[in-house]
Amino acid sequence: MELYNSTIREVAARLAEAKHRSWPYEPSRAWRDLGQNELVLTRDAAYELGGSGNPASNFTCVTTDASLVPEDSITLVGPDLGEIGADCPFCRIVMLHVNDISGDDQEAFRTIRDMEFVKYHVFPEGYMMRVSPENQREQVRVSRRALKKGMSFRNIGNSFIRKYKEKGLVDHVGIYFVTGDRQLCKELADTAKKVDTITLTLNHIMDGLATDCSVCSFKPVCDEVEGMKELHFKKGEAPMKLD
Ligand code: SF4
Repeated sequence: MELYNSTIREVAARLAEAKHRSWPYEPSRAWRDLGQNELVLTRDAAYELGGSGNPASNFTCVTTDASLVPEDSITLVGPDLGEIGADCPFCRIVMLHVNDISGDDQEAFRTIRDMEFVKYHVFPEGYMMRVSPENQREQVRVSRRALKKGMSFRNIGNSFIRKYKEKGLVDHVGIYFVTGDRQLCKELADTAKKVDTITLTLNHIMDGLATDCSVCSFKPVCDEVEGMKELHFKKGEAPMKLD
């Protein structure tokens, strides 16, 4: 599964340039999980990541190339939860190395879809995520009480990784949080759109719909993303040539 590899390389390089802090995976540092959505009321919130019209996005990239996600790690670019004073730009990115799916595209596709749903099953106390699947927005209302208890992105990152690790196919997880930098968060929101388009195209291909590439609305994606056309051809429903 190489469709997201160039995105992973670009994003990892871009974030490595920025000032950042990194931590290894330590499950004991995962924040308390409530097992269900918690309502953090406005009056109890310190601020909202991505609130007040700030850029706010999330995306997940899956690869079978172990060298792209060689270990479990949490990376923070920008101020930590306890250092933020008001609504600010935000992005959360997950990069996953998954094993044992390289030979079967349907399985790879199912895995990608499965991974997309993990974010709906992480419920850290005092960290209320509001995700919009239509536009990849992810806003987070952060409670004052949780901040007083010392909640940090290191805790939240561990919570996410622990959840992903419940999936047997996941080998390594790299999770990134970006806060405060409006320009960078805008760029990453554009990347989130691109990643979503790749996944939508994959959907189209896996539905087995044969199309003429020259009139297919996904052509710009297939022209840009290495391996996409090959995937459609390989599937046996090769795109028809009408001319
Ligand atoms: S390979 Fe051609 S037909 Fe298939 S999704 Fe891409 S552009 Fe469309």
